[in-house]
Amino acid sequence: MTNPILKSGDKLVLASHNKGKLAEFSSLLADFGITVLSAGDLDLPEPDETETTFAGNAALKAVAASKATGLPALADDSGLCVSALGGAPGIYSARWAGPDKDFPAAMARIHEGIGEDERDAWFICVLCLAFPDGTTRSFEGRINGQITWPPRGDKGHGYDPIFTPEGETRTFAEMADAEKNAISHRARAFKSFRESCLD
Ligand code: IMP
Repeated sequence: MTNPILKSGDKLVLASHNKGKLAEFSSLLADFGITVLSAGDLDLPEPDETETTFAGNAALKAVAASKATGLPALADDSGLCVSALGGAPGIYSARWAGPDKDFPAAMARIHEGIGEDERDAWFICVLCLAFPDGTTRSFEGRINGQITWPPRGDKGHGYDPIFTPEGETRTFAEMADAEKNAISHRARAFKSFRESCLD
């Protein structure tokens, strides 16, 4: 790349309070010499996700963190979309599990809402990089698959036990972290961010 947007030694705020995401992105970014500061460490407020698209919510979080710190900021928004449910739970994926993070209940709600032959689903992740002047760049990653019932596997998180990616017989929750992270929607979004923004 001739003109990277972020170079070794630059600081970047990760606009997330989620410890798992922070660990994953910090380790990916460390390879590029980027100094990562987390929204939690900087005591930044967590804005409400009031937009109606993944890209809108990712931008809202990234722009708020960048404006508050005067530094570039990276945010992500992700979720599971089920074709037979018109794309739900989509941006409401976390909210379907409620404040107690009851994913067994959220997975059962998906199962109850679809028929035997209506299993198409996909995970989406949108990453947004925002600058203090308000400009943004977005990168989307997607992985197609099928809803599996009953849930299988005890690895991963969220909806992993009911999602079998295309070309696989195992659910995400039956795969080792490294295997899932090599093909996931988040990995695909990060790859496209890396190709356009990092040295
Ligand atoms: P976010 O933190 O607003 O992006 O919410 C993402 C929500 O989507 C999570 O709470 C999970 O419910 C779901 N989700 C996103 N990515 C994954 C994944 O890789 N596996 C399982 N669930 C996921």
